[in-house]
Amino acid sequence: MEVFNLDVPLSVLGEGPVWDACRQCLWWVDIEPGLVHRYMPSTGQYRMLPAGDRCSSLVLCTSGNLMLTLKDGFAELDPVSGAKSYLARVEADLPENRFNDGKCDPAGRFWAGTMDYRNGVTGAGKLYMLNHDRSVEARLSGITCSNGMAWSADHTVFYYIDTPSREVAAYRYDRATGNIYDKRVAVHIPADQGLPDGMTIDSEGMLWVALWGGSAVARYDPYSGKRMAVIELPVSNVTSCTFGGEHLEDLYITTARSGLSAHELSQQPLAGAVFVCRSVGVRGEPAIPFLDSTD
Ligand code: CA
Repeated sequence: MEVFNLDVPLSVLGEGPVWDACRQCLWWVDIEPGLVHRYMPSTGQYRMLPAGDRCSSLVLCTSGNLMLTLKDGFAELDPVSGAKSYLARVEADLPENRFNDGKCDPAGRFWAGTMDYRNGVTGAGKLYMLNHDRSVEARLSGITCSNGMAWSADHTVFYYIDTPSREVAAYRYDRATGNIYDKRVAVHIPADQGLPDGMTIDSEGMLWVALWGGSAVARYDPYSGKRMAVIELPVSNVTSCTFGGEHLEDLYITTARSGLSAHELSQQPLAGAVFVCRSVGVRGEPAIPFLDSTD
């Protein structure tokens, strides 16, 4: 399948792509400089918002605002004015930790996990859930590099990637409480295919996983664990993906320059680009917004 890079600046650590169906645009972040990016495919219009503080993921809100994970907290961002305000903090006592990937669950709660970003200490992170009342609950502990998440369309399964495990884990999920339990390994990724990073689910219930160091996004069947398709990219560090476009038929893919040597960067001039693979043959599921308004 053919991929094209968008005409947007290269990211140091591009992450967290989200398709905004209301605005018909793609949002993503660049964690290292703490930037929020927006691209509108119909016009080619590009815009950047400085969020700071190692902004690592974003979700849409029912109010029209964006919710972000910053280094040690959840914050709301007004995309028009750029005003930002913290809603909840975590791990203030762990200066080596920062938030990483995040996404909303089917009930509109914001899930995001942490990692030791200085030394990659094993098991130093946790997976958190931000409730509608802004309270925060830890859902998993002993996490090393919290990354991709997805929920099944019937809201009974939560898929999760702790990158060094080389696995996509599947948990039973209780929508009412947000409880997860009965972990099983849905997909195992061999060492020579890269490390699993961000992830999205399609309308057939299959998982699309970005492979850091693997120069690809691959589609997996979480029931058999089999790899169904591969989209190859001209850069090695592929970070995340999401479906976008009017009918959610295009796959948008973020990548990174970080982790590459000067020589590797010279060999991969598009490292850090956002790519799109048009009409991959299956549609995605709409992004679930954070429920921050009742109207
Ligand atoms: Ca990631």
